[in-house]
Amino acid sequence: MQTRIVTLLLFVLVSFVPSTAQTTIPKPEEVLGFTPGDDRKLASWSQVIDYFEKLDRASDRVTFQTLGQTSMNQPFVMATISAPANLARLDELRKIQDQLADPRTLGPLATRDRKAAELIRQGKTIVLITCGIHSTEVGSYLSSMLIAQRLASSTDADVQKILDNTIILLVPSLNPDGVDIVKNWYDKTLGTPFEGTDPPELYHKYTGHDNNRDWYAFTQVETQLTVDKIHNVWHPQIVHDIHQQGAFGSRLFLPPYMPPVEPNVPKAIVQAYTELGNFMAAEMRVKGFQGITTNSTYDAWSPARAYSHYHAGARMLSETASARIASPMTLKFDELRSREGYDPQKESPQFGPVWRGGEWHLSDITKYMTTAAFFLLDHAAQNREQWLRRFYAVGKEAVRPRRPGELYGFLIERSGNTEALLSILRRGGVEVEAPKPGTIFKLGNRALPQGTQLVRMDQPYAAFAKTLLEVQRYPNLRDDAGHPIAPYDVTAHTLPLLMDVGVHPVKAPFRPARISGISEIVGVVRNWKPVATADLAAIYRSSVPSHDEGWTRWIMDSNNIPFGVLTDKELRAGITVFKSSPGVTGKYYVLLIPDQPARTLLEGYRSGAMPPELTGGLGPEGVRHLRDFVETGGTLVFLNRASNFAIEQFKLPLRNVVAGLPRTDFYVPGSILRIELDTTHPIASGMPKETIAWAEDSPVFEVTNDPNATVPASNVRVIASYSADKNPLLSGWLLGGDLIKGKAALVEVKMGKGRVILFGFRPQYRAQSLATYPLFFNALSSK
Ligand SMILES: [Zn+2]
Repeated sequence: MQTRIVTLLLFVLVSFVPSTAQTTIPKPEEVLGFTPGDDRKLASWSQVIDYFEKLDRASDRVTFQTLGQTSMNQPFVMATISAPANLARLDELRKIQDQLADPRTLGPLATRDRKAAELIRQGKTIVLITCGIHSTEVGSYLSSMLIAQRLASSTDADVQKILDNTIILLVPSLNPDGVDIVKNWYDKTLGTPFEGTDPPELYHKYTGHDNNRDWYAFTQVETQLTVDKIHNVWHPQIVHDIHQQGAFGSRLFLPPYMPPVEPNVPKAIVQAYTELGNFMAAEMRVKGFQGITTNSTYDAWSPARAYSHYHAGARMLSETASARIASPMTLKFDELRSREGYDPQKESPQFGPVWRGGEWHLSDITKYMTTAAFFLLDHAAQNREQWLRRFYAVGKEAVRPRRPGELYGFLIERSGNTEALLSILRRGGVEVEAPKPGTIFKLGNRALPQGTQLVRMDQPYAAFAKTLLEVQRYPNLRDDAGHPIAPYDVTAHTLPLLMDVGVHPVKAPFRPARISGISEIVGVVRNWKPVATADLAAIYRSSVPSHDEGWTRWIMDSNNIPFGVLTDKELRAGITVFKSSPGVTGKYYVLLIPDQPARTLLEGYRSGAMPPELTGGLGPEGVRHLRDFVETGGTLVFLNRASNFAIEQFKLPLRNVVAGLPRTDFYVPGSILRIELDTTHPIASGMPKETIAWAEDSPVFEVTNDPNATVPASNVRVIASYSADKNPLLSGWLLGGDLIKGKAALVEVKMGKGRVILFGFRPQYRAQSLATYPLFFNALSSK
């Protein structure tokens, strides 16, 4: 880490000595022993740090700092790259950003535009480049060194223009732990039949690929460091997020994104990513790059991937085709496969020119990535004033007083999870106010509790608050054949529902007496807190990594609940680890099977796909041992899709009524539904009568009188069900909702001396659905 004082000193020294420094800039191969992009070569995280430290020492254009520690205690780092004259006045340039970001700081309305024009003249385009959040997409952290080296060493006029007009914040990896997880697996399997496979573990300690779904919940330390120490400090106008996609589609995706765009993303931001993405694609095509797609596959629906869209910055996702980690592959033209919005075998407005297939090396990936990054930087430099003007315009629109009839803000009631919700908003830069003492807000006849907070819409990051506080109405998108077009990820992120906090939109002009509730979604204030009563629970870890398993471990760790982990091998081998009831030898009362497809649980990796010790799943022996565990008194808890495994393997008197239905009949791709609870059951004890269910490819249960079932229907108790008459959908997208009315969403089945609990939803979804944490923790309780 280089302090600012040292940097300043260095700058002073360098400016007195006629500079030969640029000729001694280290090349990555001099530090790593290979060039990033060479076949079958990956750098370790310590090598990456070593390279950037050497670059920092050699170059007056680069400063390098450690921002904090990762989940596995590695340094989380960033390089700041610009012209030496800019690096010498970073504080001043950052202050310009602060003022343009929040036009209220520019004084009286009448003179703001004039002051802003002066700041725009002086300011720089701030470009954040983030690499490597997905660790198997190895091209980007390797490219970060190539990008930095060129910026540090080049004497080209275009690079000089970039350095003069922009400040580049370069994060070599948003997930440093994963760099080594992937490298270790890759090196271990190099030269074996398993070379180029993904590692059989999550490449982030808890979240794996879902680390890029955390940009509003901010649960993980890497997300927190990026938001607190980069986004909120610098308010970048452009965030270039460098990824890789599958091997068989386009060679490169660039924005614009395909529909839908979430309605709170400012139009100016949509224009920005459209203009810049089209510019990059056009320039790359001129240079002869093939297989580029825009306006396809990736949508702009969720703040979970796009913090910047709600903070006046354009997220510039790029997705380059993968190889087999660092190993090359050869693709035939007819192996290329269509994805949403284009066919890689046909030129179209969204795709072209066609790539004819052939060899695809890691060096192709780094070449696409570095070329795209420099075109992005060219645009940022050449259009510096335009980027800053647009940035100011977004802030100006955000802070303008709301006109009568417009949304004025949201009132947020004080209850058990309110602080969790408010801390998310505050971390996202949202100002939360306490209304004047003595103000009483009335919802019908009910006065809102003391401590109700107000979030106004006339503030810089109101769009971030609004998207998280309101209900999502995902558009009913269909292709030409009438089939639903799948969202890129999920469709809902309404925090008041996920966290069960009373939130009420209020219109301008704001009159406390006249508020109405969004009682459609949040009816009453509930003052319970999740109770951590789990004891002696174990979590099953499949050889095939499961995000839900990782999130579950995070929830247990962050609530200081001890737990065990059991693998396929252990469950196949035997059952002595289990404790069937208090006082009996063994270790666990409860075993949790996280969300995973039934077939993956049973079969795991297919034979030959991975080393033999990792294949085969739970298998018939595992099933038998699980059944023994329940029958001798254990509790088995299945989450979401895993419930299908229990129904099939234990022959339970239950049917998943939506199994096998085409999407045209039933579809719930990540939405918030309404369920009703039997609060006389211990699992729902203390809960409200009505709550939410996070449904995502979820089963829906019906009790059957199947004579072949191992237990009678009378052994089943329904704990939660979908209302017989109300629309189940609260936020997001649901097709075929009528099919699930009156059906069960959570059941308990007695089997022998024990029981099986089946969740038809994800009660601890991505550590966000605090509303249903009590159900989750109560199910893990041995009582
Ligand atoms: Zn990715």
